[in-house]
Amino acid sequence: MSNQTGEVPTLSLRGDVPIPQLGFGVFQIPPEDTAEVATRALLAGYRHIDTATAYGNEAGVGQAIHAAGLDRDEVFITTKCFNDDHGYDQATRALKTSLDLLEIAHVDLYLIHWPVPSQDRYVETWKAFIDLQAEGLIRAIGVSNFQPAHLERLIEETGVTPAVNQVELHPRFQQAGLRREHAQLGIVTEAWSPLAQGAVLDDPVVTGIAEEHGKTPGQVVLRWHIQLGNVVIPKSVTPERIEQNLDVFDFDLSDEEMAAIEALDAGGRIGPDPDTFVRP
Ligand code: NDP
Repeated sequence: MSNQTGEVPTLSLRGDVPIPQLGFGVFQIPPEDTAEVATRALLAGYRHIDTATAYGNEAGVGQAIHAAGLDRDEVFITTKCFNDDHGYDQATRALKTSLDLLEIAHVDLYLIHWPVPSQDRYVETWKAFIDLQAEGLIRAIGVSNFQPAHLERLIEETGVTPAVNQVELHPRFQQAGLRREHAQLGIVTEAWSPLAQGAVLDDPVVTGIAEEHGKTPGQVVLRWHIQLGNVVIPKSVTPERIEQNLDVFDFDLSDEEMAAIEALDAGGRIGPDPDTFVRP
């Protein structure tokens, strides 16, 4: 349900770690612009930022916390361990490098960015995550782009279930089967490219619903995610969109509207296939 205050709700991750359901993604924001853009997002009211080693802009995210005049604990920070940092020792070093760049003592959520099955080192990487969490350097540990077989193997071999799986998910690629699996395992679904990088925003179903509510197509798609229970991390460098994307908590989509968006699923990814993606 929407709320009167327009505040971003939190979901609870394993271990009782609260995560704001809507955050700000910084993929493809150039490193030299990231501090300014992320500061704008924090001043607009975002309290959750999603970065990654591979984005090359963790330092800008760390600077934004200070520039916005916030305390570290007021912002939920996610970063990710990339493909060439798989392995126990490498992952441990990678986290410490990220913490240095972000200038923080712990991350709220650390994700294995891709499973890279051909390397077959994600279980070893996960073991490092478990120990780093026990050391207090990470509050919640999770994965990204994991398929059911990868999730099941992690759980079988370590007994520790990821708090989150961050995956490509938007109206054209809805991942219903994977979402069901997450629900059974108690894993929170986090949607990357939640707006399909803009590709669904001129769909007549989406624009029609937007007109009904006096909202923009982007807001309708983000509201759809929120009502599905997904965590969402839209990216924008455009000041009015940064504000608009946060303003999705004062209206509700009806069951019919949810179903109309569900019918847009085309089953096709815009991003890489997690079973084969290996970019070092
Ligand atoms: P999004 O679906 O968030 O789309 C971003 C694009 O949509 C940009 O071109 C932006 O333009 C535009 N846009 C944003 N808001 C609006 C709006 N209200 N109306 C119209 N257009 C809009 O795609 P991303 O790929 O950036 O994904 C979001 C985040 O997900 C990333 O930043 C990253 O944090 C994460 N991610 C994770 C991946 C993973 O493997 N784990 C892979 C990919 C992304 P502009 O900026 O010009 O305003």
